[in-house]
Amino acid sequence: MPVTTASHCKQPAGKFTPVISLKRCEGRGDCLAVCPENVFEVRRIDDQDYAALGLLNKLKLRVHGMQVAYSVNADACRACGLCVTACPEDAIKLARRSADAP
Ligand code: SF4
Ligand code: SF4
Repeated sequence: MPVTTASHCKQPAGKFTPVISLKRCEGRGDCLAVCPENVFEVRRIDDQDYAALGLLNKLKLRVHGMQVAYSVNADACRACGLCVTACPEDAIKLARRSADAP
């Protein structure tokens, strides 16, 4: 089976964006390590995002040091898919940006 690399199937930047489930994210940064476009940042969860989580997800996040990934540079995403493959929690989906929707 061929190995998928960032050079395959790239889209122009700005067509797709990674959507991160903060309920699933454990903040260890595998996505940050593999992204060739520096889309991600791992940091303490924002207060409003934390407040929106259910009790079990809040407890899980405390265990993981309150750290989650944010796609702070989402405009640079070229939809290579490396982050989706690398995420051990299946927390990342690629979504077509709404401006491109039919
Ligand atoms: S790889 Fe997945 S679980 Fe890990 S920080 Fe990124 S989004 Fe979160
Ligand atoms: S698909 Fe993921 S790894 Fe690839 S450029 Fe976009 S955010 Fe980075």
